[in-house]
Amino acid sequence: MLGAVLDLLFPRRCLGCRGPVWPFCAGCLAAVAVLTPPGCGRCGRPADPGPGGPARGGSADGCRDCPPPEISWSRSAFLYDGPIRSALLGVKFSGRRSDLGVLVPAMVQALERGPPSRPDAVTWVPLGARRRRQRGFDQGEVLARALARQAALPCARLLVRTRETPPQAKRAGPARREALTGAFRAVGAAPPSVVLVDDVLTSGATAAACARALRDAGARRVGVLTAARSLGAGVPSRCYGWTDLGLASRDGNPKGGMPMELTLNGRGLRITDQHRRAIEHRVAKLDRRPRPAILRVEVEIIHEPTPRIAGGHRVQMSCETPRRTFRAEGAGETVDAALDRAFERVERQISTYRSKRSSASRGARAAPVAEGGEPPIR
Ligand SMILES: [Zn+2]
Ligand SMILES: [Zn+2]
Repeated sequence: MLGAVLDLLFPRRCLGCRGPVWPFCAGCLAAVAVLTPPGCGRCGRPADPGPGGPARGGSADGCRDCPPPEISWSRSAFLYDGPIRSALLGVKFSGRRSDLGVLVPAMVQALERGPPSRPDAVTWVPLGARRRRQRGFDQGEVLARALARQAALPCARLLVRTRETPPQAKRAGPARREALTGAFRAVGAAPPSVVLVDDVLTSGATAAACARALRDAGARRVGVLTAARSLGAGVPSRCYGWTDLGLASRDGNPKGGMPMELTLNGRGLRITDQHRRAIEHRVAKLDRRPRPAILRVEVEIIHEPTPRIAGGHRVQMSCETPRRTFRAEGAGETVDAALDRAFERVERQISTYRSKRSSASRGARAAPVAEGGEPPIR
């Protein structure tokens, strides 16, 4: 009931881009990477078959991205990037804990991809009391309890955080480990096999500190399960484009689709599914604002290795709205960089146009809107 009232007052928006579709719009969904096998037997990092070589990271007993040895195994549902990163950060700052539930079915699937033995208990990496008070809930606990319910496993608080640790992001490995020593303490005895849940796995230093505390309390096997995992080097393209994870809108909201026409051309390179998804994601972001409606987007990617253009990728695009067409170009070393620049320019043109139109409609003398957009970049 309260949920329904909240939805009326604050309509749920796409967790990735704040567009009008909950939980994820089609564009954001296309940018979600699921950490699927084949991959590392210990940590599930998807293997990337390198050019002409064997699959990288495909071993049963570890890869170079594996978490510390206190952790017996680990699995994560998603790559911590793009819309999933926005979703997890959004939950922390919006306080809407129910949004976390969206990620749980994919975590159950990730758990099923882990070692076959059934754990004795599910627990979580606890927040310190102060941060928990500030946030109103512990995202690790919310995820652990929902996961245990869906996977029919017992869930118990097995750890407390004895002191707050400073944010991890800026510390190097050994400093991180030292900062975490003694930060967690077990509550009573731990069962032999435990699954430790958290929202994000980065270096694994925090989870390893928890695993040490659980092992000191009697656990022999500590697996780690997180909603997302941060991986520096990216993942293979097969990880994108999964649709059966309960992340798509269940309302059949037509805005969840791609309402406009999208034309894609390649000159000097073949357009891949990855290019298409990268563009759909950016188009969805362009379209999230209510006006003007975007009717048609045309993108041409040009690969032209000349000394004039660094790296040799160029993007020319046009974006048609009911009253005018915006055009822009972008160049860069990679297709992504060129796309970013072209889309940035179009976005800027659209917002300039929109603010001119809205000031005109507020009764100011209508200023003529310049046609043609920005000058070409070269
Ligand atoms: Zn979105
Ligand atoms: Zn690994």
